[in-house]
Amino acid sequence: MTAYDTDNIFAKILRGEMPCHKVYEDEHTFVFMDIMPRGDGHALVIPKNPARNILDVDDQDLVHVMATARKIAQAQIKAFGADGITINQFNESAGGQVVFHLHVHVIPRFDGIALKPHTGQMEDQDILAANAEKLRSAL
Ligand code: 5GP
Repeated sequence: MTAYDTDNIFAKILRGEMPCHKVYEDEHTFVFMDIMPRGDGHALVIPKNPARNILDVDDQDLVHVMATARKIAQAQIKAFGADGITINQFNESAGGQVVFHLHVHVIPRFDGIALKPHTGQMEDQDILAANAEKLRSAL
């Protein structure tokens, strides 16, 4: 498998070299808003340690990422009044992965509202900021 690229976008976000709308961080994980959300409140959970995807991630880092994903899902129910949550995670190009630092998509869902396309429209920065704030308040 291809080696981890330390210059991928999420590695740069982790190092503070690229901006993001941060929601949460702890010792092992970091959470921020997806810039092209498939639904309102779409967040990304990543491990702080380098991992390309599920094929090379350390077992304990995967546990930490999923525990944080659940924390974010619970906050999304509270913050947005979501009816459900969709969790997505893609591996390698053939699996739909575009950014090669492991990430879990946590997406609030609402009855009768379909997901937008995977790589769709760039969201307004003010909306991303407001949704990040709502999520932080619900944590
Ligand atoms: P995947 O690799 O799981 O297919 O998708 C990568 C995800 O990262 C997409 O949902 C895309 O909208 C999001 N994304 C790509 N570039 C950026 C970025 O620079 N900032 C943020 N916050 N999200 C990004």
